[in-house]
Amino acid sequence: MEMVCGWSLRRMSSLLDELGLDPEDFEWQDLALCSNMPTSFFYDGYESDQETAKATDQVCLRCPVQKQCFFTGASGEHGVWGGVYWNGSGKPDKNRNAHKTEEVWNEVQRKVT
Ligand code: SF4
Repeated sequence: MEMVCGWSLRRMSSLLDELGLDPEDFEWQDLALCSNMPTSFFYDGYESDQETAKATDQVCLRCPVQKQCFFTGASGEHGVWGGVYWNGSGKPDKNRNAHKTEEVWNEVQRKVT
């Protein structure tokens, strides 16, 4: 039986079907917890308001696709991906992430490794 992330393909296909997602046309973004959030939470809102940034971090820490999102951000994206604000060159932006506590960084690391 073929397995994906420890799940049988039949089980995964059944879950996607329950969510109304087409297994033949599925992408990790389809499970993003932020799909209905304003884009500003991940760019200018995050940059200008620490409370918005902290709230966004908490959404990402609860997102089922944080790991996939994190590595997309690390590949050269700009803005918040996987709970980290990326500088567009594959590095976390020091200033935009300055509000994060050690506990938040530890949680991000635990979720993406
Ligand atoms: S990790 Fe954050 S930015 Fe990425 S899909 Fe999930 S909620 Fe959205």
